[in-house]
Amino acid sequence: MNTAITEQAVSEKEFLFPNLENLFCDINIHEYQNVMYKAQESVVSFLEEAHKPFSGVSPKELRKQFENIDLNDPTQSYEEVFEEVRTLYTQHAIAFHHPKYVAHLNCPVVIPAIAAEMLISSINSSLDTWDQSAGGTLMEQKLIEWTCKEIGFERSSDGIFTSGGSQSNLMGMLLARDYYSIKYFNHNIKKNGLPENAHRFRVFVSEAAHFSIQKSASILGLGEQAVVKIKTDRSFRMNSILLEDAIQKEIENGNIPIAVVATAGTTDFGNIDPLTNIARIAKRYSLWFHVDAAYGCALLLTEKYRHLIQGIEHADSVTVDYHKSFFQPVSSSGFLVKDRNYFNLITHYADYLNPKDHDENEIPNQVNKSIQTTRRFDALKLWFTLRIIGKEGLGNYIERIIYTANEAATLLENDPHFELLNRSDLSALVFRYSADPFKTFDLSRINTFIKSQLYRHGNALVAGTKVNGQFYLKFTILNPLTTIEDIQSILTTIKQYGNEYIEVN
Ligand SMILES: *Cc1c(COP(=O)(O)O)cnc(C)c1O
Repeated sequence: MNTAITEQAVSEKEFLFPNLENLFCDINIHEYQNVMYKAQESVVSFLEEAHKPFSGVSPKELRKQFENIDLNDPTQSYEEVFEEVRTLYTQHAIAFHHPKYVAHLNCPVVIPAIAAEMLISSINSSLDTWDQSAGGTLMEQKLIEWTCKEIGFERSSDGIFTSGGSQSNLMGMLLARDYYSIKYFNHNIKKNGLPENAHRFRVFVSEAAHFSIQKSASILGLGEQAVVKIKTDRSFRMNSILLEDAIQKEIENGNIPIAVVATAGTTDFGNIDPLTNIARIAKRYSLWFHVDAAYGCALLLTEKYRHLIQGIEHADSVTVDYHKSFFQPVSSSGFLVKDRNYFNLITHYADYLNPKDHDENEIPNQVNKSIQTTRRFDALKLWFTLRIIGKEGLGNYIERIIYTANEAATLLENDPHFELLNRSDLSALVFRYSADPFKTFDLSRINTFIKSQLYRHGNALVAGTKVNGQFYLKFTILNPLTTIEDIQSILTTIKQYGNEYIEVN
């Protein structure tokens, strides 16, 4: 940069813009490096101090500390802010990297992806249009192509990075609704709103499907009533015979089946619906076939278990959550379609942003395929990850996790203190403490007590869920560092709390 400009900038900084040193730009490189180093130190302290997954702090205890903070009175000192953030946040943050965090679908993240985060937020490209991202758009497209290929889609396929599985599922339902309406009723929902018979549209899911499908139906004006839940079999997979019965019944009642959603890896059990059977039924009744592989996309990474999601390639659309199963920081997800023309259903051309003539001139504007406008370059994290660790390296993590989950299932099955509900295709196990020989206690109560004790002490975190109205505990194992010894030790703790409840009550 030329010195005259620098001097001008410096003098303006003194007289006009007292905070100019905080802007990310070439005159502040030193400040940038300095602060990033401090940020890194703060993360390192988090790693060094997180001896257990959670401090156990209660909202009440923590809320007190927020009372005297005046956001209109900046401290202006990084030392103070890092210290403040440590007491309010970092020291109580849930440590997903801790081997005894086995609660929700949160993975530990990989270092190359964190390196990418630094570039993503510093350079701050927005991936809506070519003129705001350039190479970023092409990198995203290449990662989408890669994902489509791993799914087994043909070259006609396409996709987009999204904020999460919920958004991807919403897009799947959106395309299903609009496609059906235009194809079978010659009614364009994008232009004209919902057709009169929209309240009769029906979408089929298993009772173990993610709630975001219902939410999507309600956002899309179909109402939650549009979602028909199909019972699962003993291993918590959609029963495809009951699916066909349900479709026929809805037709008999004058309703209009438009889509079926199969879950490849349910949130609670990690099991995969019979994709090939469901694909066949979807085809027979001309239904949109969406596969929610938010969790199960992990299996794309491993040759050993890839066969478990055979059939995913028949989908019209697929949800994958890289931030669930590819060890990516939030947010990083994908929505993939078999045929790129499906996106025409939602493309909107804005003169200022993505005028139609850009398409003719082959200028790629990703906003044409997204329901977001300004959009993070999350794809760069996956790029770094694949270039450094590779598919096989990530696949080894997944194989390790599945192995540990299998061992854990065996432990639970062989221990008379526990009742295990499922074997998992992935790594989620639903079980409960049930060592009550005289059946005098309410098992839901004991297990709720156990869960709250674990949370309060924070030495190990497990999740909870309800099955047939009963409360169960859940392990979601997503950390290749979690060993069977860790699981054993968590089970010992669970037994202690269980015994404690029985003794006291
Ligand atoms: C987590 C999950 C979702 C939602 O994904 P988010 O990224 O949390 O929005 C959807 N489907 C399944 C099966 C999930 O497990």
